[in-house]
Amino acid sequence: MFQKILIANRGEIALRIIRACRELGIQTVVVYSTADRDAAYLKMADQAICIGDASPAESYLNIPRIISAAEISDVEAIHPGYGFLSEKHHFAEICRSCKIEFIGPPVDAMLALGDKVQCKKIAKRAKVPTVPGSDGAVEDEKQAVEIASKIGYPVIIKASAGGGGRGMRVAHNEMTLRAGLNQARAEAENAFKDPTVYIEKYVEFGRHVEVQVIADQHGNAVHLWERDCSMQRRHQKLVEESPSPFLKQSVREELCAAAVRLVRESKYFNAGTVEFLVDKDQNFYILEVNARIQVEHPVTESVTGIDLIKEQIRVASGERLSFVQKDVEQRGHAIECRINAEDPARNFAPFPGVIEEYRPPGGPGVRLDSHVYAGYRIPPNYDSMIGKLIVHRPTREQAIATMKRALSEFHISPIRTTIPFHLQIMDNEHFRRGEVDTGFVERVMLPK
Ligand code: ADP
Repeated sequence: MFQKILIANRGEIALRIIRACRELGIQTVVVYSTADRDAAYLKMADQAICIGDASPAESYLNIPRIISAAEISDVEAIHPGYGFLSEKHHFAEICRSCKIEFIGPPVDAMLALGDKVQCKKIAKRAKVPTVPGSDGAVEDEKQAVEIASKIGYPVIIKASAGGGGRGMRVAHNEMTLRAGLNQARAEAENAFKDPTVYIEKYVEFGRHVEVQVIADQHGNAVHLWERDCSMQRRHQKLVEESPSPFLKQSVREELCAAAVRLVRESKYFNAGTVEFLVDKDQNFYILEVNARIQVEHPVTESVTGIDLIKEQIRVASGERLSFVQKDVEQRGHAIECRINAEDPARNFAPFPGVIEEYRPPGGPGVRLDSHVYAGYRIPPNYDSMIGKLIVHRPTREQAIATMKRALSEFHISPIRTTIPFHLQIMDNEHFRRGEVDTGFVERVMLPK
């Protein structure tokens, strides 16, 4: 097992990793930018090293500075968290060539699965259903139109290197497809420095269901059941839960088995998530693989009782998984709400600034993963998520009641947050019946 690791991230996930390490008896070194210099979690680490200015390019994405910090502090491994460098295979390669273990998958698996076009090829080999589509990059309008007329409209144009819900466009006919294609290519080039796009059938009224997987370096691969993340705004998740209130048990088992097949096929190790779209008839299709820990991992930790961050660290150090498939139970029901510093009344505009009053919720069944407190200044430079509220109860109905209670206890001022919007979701009849899809929030709760 490692004795000292560096955390190449910030905010709630940096704190989450510090907590796991402290329980494992591992020393931590956390890096930070000048915008985060006052964050309280820095004091919970054994060492904190400033690596540069607020801009991510100067700090959390700056590989030479992170590697220097790792070498100076003599760590054995780096945990990248999510976002930033977590899915950059180049970073993983540099870490390992410097004899610092990257707490994540092997470089080859990151390369193969990180690209959505490649990922679909591997999925086919592993007999995991893919959404009908171009089966590769689309070069020009003519080819796009041919494919779309074969699979039928609506179609979705997606960036091969895409992520975070960006670089996607839905086309309902030939005209919008022609226009969308060029815009999507330009956007992809701009956002990801790679103009490659592909086309697939747009699954209407689909649900987003993903499977948590973890594998060790000795060939053991298991799933930790699914999370339903259909409550989204602009293709970004707002609420996640486990189990999915929609899936039949037989489909749940098939979905999880498919995810494990893919992991084995790509010789993957460490934690990962296989994302699927499930249509109204419960047919499922793979969307992509996220080769890292995800924001919503606590939902899975709650229902399985397994600490995913500790498991990631153990697996990276070469240990075997501490459990086998049949030990992984899905007990009770867990729901997570992402608490963002955004103003729902102003089209969810980011709301950075100082938190003056802060009263977090508590009590039975409540977990809060957050790095903020009264007096904390939310910097404008990063993602607006300031915490995650997770509840775990024996049934979904009870989980919703506990979430409502916890959200109404949660007081943050004068910063505006997504708390009031989450309260609306918990009261929404369709959500309560488990009848939502990835377009629900925008179509029903936020119609233009
Ligand atoms: P990203 O990497 O940007 O998160 P994903 O491929 O995971 O992109 O898709 C994000 C979301 O976009 C999905 O959860 C779903 O809501 C929507 N989406 C993506 N592909 C399709 C599709 N073929 N049909 C319908 N919705 C889709």
